[in-house]
Amino acid sequence: MPHVVVIGAGIAGLTAAYRAVNAGHHVTVLEAEPTAGGAIAPATFDLPEGQLTVDAGAEAYAARSTHMTQLLEGLGLANELVTPNPDGSWLYLPEVGAVPAPKLGMWGIPGDPAAAEVIQALGAEAAVRAAADLATPMDAWAKRRAEGQPVTVGELVADRFGPVALERLVAPVVAGVHSADPNDVDLDKIAPGLLDKAIQRGSVAKAVADIRAAAPPGAAVKTLPGGMHRLIDALLDALRDRAEVRFGTRVTALDPATRTVTTQTGEQLTANQVILAVDAPSAYDLLTPSTQLTKRPAYGTGVALVVLVIDAPGLDVHPRGTGMLVSPAVTDAHAKAATHVTAKWQWAGQAATSLAEHRHVIRLSYGRITDPLDGSAPGHDTAEADLLAMATSDAAAMFGLEHEQLQAGLVASKIVRWRRAMPLTTPDNTTRIRAVQEAARTTNWIQVTGAWFAGTGLAAITQHVTGLPLNPLQ
Ligand SMILES: Cc1cc2nc3c(=O)[nH]c(=O)nc-3n(C[C@H](O)[C@H](O)[C@H](O)COP(=O)(O)OP(=O)(O)OC[C@H]3O[C@@H](n4cnc5c(N)ncnc54)[C@H](O)[C@@H]3O)c2cc1C
Repeated sequence: MPHVVVIGAGIAGLTAAYRAVNAGHHVTVLEAEPTAGGAIAPATFDLPEGQLTVDAGAEAYAARSTHMTQLLEGLGLANELVTPNPDGSWLYLPEVGAVPAPKLGMWGIPGDPAAAEVIQALGAEAAVRAAADLATPMDAWAKRRAEGQPVTVGELVADRFGPVALERLVAPVVAGVHSADPNDVDLDKIAPGLLDKAIQRGSVAKAVADIRAAAPPGAAVKTLPGGMHRLIDALLDALRDRAEVRFGTRVTALDPATRTVTTQTGEQLTANQVILAVDAPSAYDLLTPSTQLTKRPAYGTGVALVVLVIDAPGLDVHPRGTGMLVSPAVTDAHAKAATHVTAKWQWAGQAATSLAEHRHVIRLSYGRITDPLDGSAPGHDTAEADLLAMATSDAAAMFGLEHEQLQAGLVASKIVRWRRAMPLTTPDNTTRIRAVQEAARTTNWIQVTGAWFAGTGLAAITQHVTGLPLNPLQ
């Protein structure tokens, strides 16, 4: 039987291994860490009243993803899926503070610039500027399109809706959810078809409204009750007895000439095919000795999550819906986003209140992709005590609670740091990542996959894994 060695047991590696065993191959998965899942991980609190577990990494997936749906169906989990509370999220903005996020939008780009929430978020003057999109011809953008030049989200939004709309409506979404600066994000990548439709309709807002109206009804994201990390347990269960999954086993060398995989203990495995499901800098290190690669992709600034368990009656009414995205221009809070976990997911709310009345979980995230790489901004490298102090003060300001009350109600906290899970999306880094992918392809033995090569998120990754050629050499 051909031997497929999968390196990395995140969602990418485990899904690839699952595909490979289903195709009848002999599969070994090698994972450096003591546990599987990578950026899909649980955070468990051992509290006096009992255990409370939420997600410490990815918490949901894009519901339109047919590949995720198929995967969950195959694992027998599809009928358990749940959607978030439909209350929607809020924005935390300079000057105006907390406001509900416009309901009709795409990446924060408004589908109705005259909507009350848009005017509330932008102020009257900037709202008039945003509405100019409805009446300004799209000729210059049609010309750009005809010339085939790439268009970033930032330049289109600034031009059509004005800089305030970019800063207040779009930057919080793109930076908060997708860890990217809108000025670096290729519009066609995240919103395929939007520019062409806007040229046809003579307005970006009208195009957003059309696309939203045509989208299938239902929530944009789904998860599993108990948390998205249950997917990892299900994949490990499905691989049990069908593949060998080894933890604490870092791969240190790959030799396409002899088709050997070497681990940190010096052990060598022969493989007919290697699926390398790790971050691009790690893939670069493994590929460099046998290829022509010269420029190592860089890690981004990373993020730190602070998960707070709080007893706070003021949160019972879900004052900020499912959570908030923070404009990068805000100065009185350092977080880039906050999820009110127990408001967003019914299963989490029930789990928390089964332990104590008024119990809530808030998850705040720190570290923007636009931060300086020296670690000076609050984020991945910030000391634990500083992060915790910031989180309680930010949560109070953002959720409209008294700081002392929130601190008095703090039951437990956990800090989780992520650096490798999300690719740095600058154009130079994207070129370097493509070079790694190409170098792997030329070995005719190694396939790369995972967030750095497929795009961030479970939907993009599972789609990429499904398209991987499984053709072990004889
Ligand atoms: C805080 C946070 C929240 C997120 N929220 C969402 C969300 O809600 N929805 C969504 O769709 N996406 C979300 N994402 C993104 C999503 O989690 C990631 O895109 C995805 O989990 C990455 O999976 P992966 O398998 O590519 O990489 P990883 O999960 O990083 O897995 C790579 C694995 O390879 C291992 N490895 C690395 N080098 C070696 C080596 N040399 N030898 C052996 N093993 C090695 C690592 O230990 C790791 O386990 C979030 C990410 C973060 C950080």
